[in-house]
Amino acid sequence: MSIYYTKYLILGAGCSGLAFANHLDKSEYIIMEKDDTGGGYCRTFKKDNYIWDYAGHFFHFATPYWKNFFKSRIDADELVTIKKYTKVYYKNQLIDYPFQKNIHQLSKEELIDCLYDLCNRDLILNEKNFEEMLYKRFGKSISNKFLIPYNEKLYACNLKNLDADAMGRFFPYADLTEIINNMKKSDNNSYNDFFMYPKNGAEVFVQALMKDLPRKQLLYNQECRKIDLKGRVAYSENLEVHYEKLVNTIPLKYFINLFDNNYDRKDLSCNKVLVLNMGFDKKSHFKDIHWIYYPDKNINFYRIGFYDNILNQPYLSLYVEIGYREDESINVDNQIYLTLQNLKRVGVIDEDFHLMAYNTCIMKPAYVHISEQSRNLVDEIKNFLAEQNVYTIGRYGGWKYCSIEDCLIEAKDLYDRMCN
Ligand SMILES: Cc1cc2nc3c(=O)[nH]c(=O)nc-3n(C[C@H](O)[C@H](O)[C@H](O)COP(=O)(O)OP(=O)(O)OC[C@H]3O[C@@H](n4cnc5c(N)ncnc54)[C@H](O)[C@@H]3O)c2cc1C
Repeated sequence: MSIYYTKYLILGAGCSGLAFANHLDKSEYIIMEKDDTGGGYCRTFKKDNYIWDYAGHFFHFATPYWKNFFKSRIDADELVTIKKYTKVYYKNQLIDYPFQKNIHQLSKEELIDCLYDLCNRDLILNEKNFEEMLYKRFGKSISNKFLIPYNEKLYACNLKNLDADAMGRFFPYADLTEIINNMKKSDNNSYNDFFMYPKNGAEVFVQALMKDLPRKQLLYNQECRKIDLKGRVAYSENLEVHYEKLVNTIPLKYFINLFDNNYDRKDLSCNKVLVLNMGFDKKSHFKDIHWIYYPDKNINFYRIGFYDNILNQPYLSLYVEIGYREDESINVDNQIYLTLQNLKRVGVIDEDFHLMAYNTCIMKPAYVHISEQSRNLVDEIKNFLAEQNVYTIGRYGGWKYCSIEDCLIEAKDLYDRMCN
């Protein structure tokens, strides 16, 4: 057993852990990471000429601090900036996203249903859960045609179990006036209208975060298995790390298994996502679309994205995302088979396409289920941990829905609070 002493122990070398480490003095910290490399979910695979990530990862850095951080570390030539062009596949038709603002692209009968329900919806807000929020804001037809089936496929749960604000700013709200105005003059703009993507995959941002971190501070293949909160010691199979302060970024649900407590884990539920990355031998006729949403429950995936259209490549290079309940078993071979069938059915490929390369990964957790109970429990755990000099951050350490930039901002804020 090797023994280390450190001021700050960081658990997890994903974007949150790396961002926190970037602000510390090099001698002050150690990062314990269970995998053999850093990046967490922001990682890239390369196979033949295809470049794929763990699911589609696109970037909209808005804060000057993080924009400048990456600008000074990544050559502008390495990035593409693109105006987002995305669709919803609905009854053999591609509708502009977001669906709720583009109901005028539906058939006349469906448009009338949507408008009638939108005008006659229950206007008393005070929504108790996510499903009720959808019905009250958009009416029955828009909800039942897209918002509910799509989100049920993604979250793999009953939407009544999610908080009305479970998606926060990531949910594209639209009121009646915006919907009507959009019929006259298209304006599908959103907070993430333009996105940035590295020509060599999302991992380029991780390389920038790792650029100034000495390799010896990063302990790979070290899964933290136990923590003695009182003694301030973390253990892996062959390491014992004594710390003054601990910053956790591993999923909160698993983190609380590392020390004694009576927290009710069932309040921390989530989905998991199977990602299939697929490279073909020719280009699809969808030459300008970046990603497509699929609400139809007879189609196994909820979203696919076209790396080749983002990176201007000559061959179809797709990511395919399939949502599951946390405890559900996954038959990967069967999902590959179903995906190929369904890609033909929805017209992305035809019989002449050959799958040249693929890989798969499972993201668990992928989308955490945010409810009043989960929020209360997370607050309770965070307050308890702070008294032990333990801070838990990041999308999964904080058990929330957020972007990578949110994780970076949170890590810097924590540093500013703890260390200044
Ligand atoms: C399907 C999907 C699509 C997404 N798309 C986008 C997007 O387009 N843009 C965007 O900004 N964000 C996106 N995100 C969110 C983004 O992936 C996360 O916000 C971000 O990667 C979280 O970083 P993190 O460092 O907090 O956590 P993670 O990346 O999960 O890092 C945690 C690290 O902890 C390590 N670890 C786990 N257990 C242990 C242990 N016991 N001991 C030691 N180490 C351990 C893990 O190996 C990992 O390296 C997406 C997420 C999903 C699921």
